[in-house]
Amino acid sequence: MNGTGLSGQVYAHVGQAFRELRYDLLIVGAGRMGAALARFVMEAAPQVRLLLAEEGGLPNEEGASLLAAGVWHSFVPPEQRVRTERARQLLGESLNTCGVLQGRADPHPGFSPLRDFWTPELDALIDPEVLPFARLDARGGSFSVGSQTLQNAQTAVKLGADLMLNVRAELLGGGGARLHRLSVTNTHQVVVDHSVTLRAGAVIVAAGAAGAHLVEAGLGLITAHRQAYRQSPRLNLPSGPGSRVLRASGFILRPHSGGYSVTPPTVHPDPWGYVPSGGRLAGVPVGLRRELIESVLDNLEALPGLGGEGLVVGRSSADIPGAWVALPAGGWPLSERLDGQHWLLLGGERADLSGLSVAEELALEIAKLQP
Ligand code: ADP
Repeated sequence: MNGTGLSGQVYAHVGQAFRELRYDLLIVGAGRMGAALARFVMEAAPQVRLLLAEEGGLPNEEGASLLAAGVWHSFVPPEQRVRTERARQLLGESLNTCGVLQGRADPHPGFSPLRDFWTPELDALIDPEVLPFARLDARGGSFSVGSQTLQNAQTAVKLGADLMLNVRAELLGGGGARLHRLSVTNTHQVVVDHSVTLRAGAVIVAAGAAGAHLVEAGLGLITAHRQAYRQSPRLNLPSGPGSRVLRASGFILRPHSGGYSVTPPTVHPDPWGYVPSGGRLAGVPVGLRRELIESVLDNLEALPGLGGEGLVVGRSSADIPGAWVALPAGGWPLSERLDGQHWLLLGGERADLSGLSVAEELALEIAKLQP
C-alpha cells in the first residue's frame, strides 16, 4: 500500500532484487513526459502504486529530454493557448524569462522593424536586410528540460512512486509488461541480466520517439505518429545572461553556457531502422546530418552566424549531440487512449510549450479511474 507518506523505492541496478510484480500503474519511460506524469499522478492520487520504468539513467543521456532546447514562448495558435499558459504556470521559477525574439522576412500583423529590438550580439547572428521584421515575447524564455525531468521524477518518488532505471520494458497485452533489467559487461556491452513479468491495472507508454513502435510491437496497434533524428549543434558566438532566444527560419538559437544551442527545423520523419550518419560539407565529412546541412545552407543569408567557424560541425555523428524525437500526428504533445488499459503519451518537438499541461491533464484523468 502507498499513501503512507514514505518515499518510493529506487531500483538503480540489477543487484537490487525486485519482488513487487503488481502495480496500479506502470509508466514506461522517465523522459520529460513520463517523469511529469508520474509527479502529477502522485500529487493527485498519493495512494496509487506506481512504477516508473526507464531504459537509461535519469535524465537519460540518450533521450531527447536532456538535449531539448527548453524554450517557452507565446507564439502559438489560439487553440493551444490555454495549454501553453498552464504549462508556463507549471514551469514556475524554472523559466528564465530572457525573452524570445522571432524574425521574419515580410511585414505581418504584430511584427515591427527588427531594429526596434536590436541588441549587439544580434550583429553576428542575423541579417536584418533579409529578416527585417520581428516581434518579441518578453514573457518567453528558456529552461533546462533535464533538471526539470529529474526534479519531477524525484518528486514522484518522494510522494511514494517506485522508480526503476536501466530497464527496457516490452508491452504485453492485457495490461502488463516484460521488464528486461539491463547491465553493462566489462567490454561495455549492454546486456539483459534477467527479465520479470509485471502486471499493472493501467500502462502509460511515455517512451518518446520509441513509443509508437513499442505499441505496435507489443499490442499490435498502429498509430499515426512518427519519429525523426534531431541534432542540436553548438554555435560558439558569445551570449550572456541577458541574451534572448532567437527564432528565425525554423531555427531556434538558445543562449546556453556562453554560446548558443541550435535547434534546427525538422525536415521530415525518419523510417524505423534508419541509422543517422554524417553528411559532407564542402566535400569534407562532418558529423552533421545531410538534412541539417541543407537547412543551414538554405538559411545562411538570413542567419549568417550559422556560416562562420562558430558552428560546431564535428568529425563524427557522435561529436554532435543528437537524439530521436517523436513527431506526434498534429505536431502537438498529446495523450491517446489505446484501449481499456493502455495510453500513449507523446511530447515531441513542441513539448517545451505544452508538454507539462498535457501530462497534467492525463494524470487527472488517470487519478479519477483509481480506486
Ligand atoms: P518525451 O519527450 O516524449 O518524454 P523523451 O525522449 O524525453 O520523450 O523520453 C522518452 C524516454 O523513454 C527516454 O528516457 C527513453 O530512454 C525511455 N524509453 C524508451 N523506450 C523504452 C523502453 N522500452 N523501456 C523503458 N524506457 C524506455
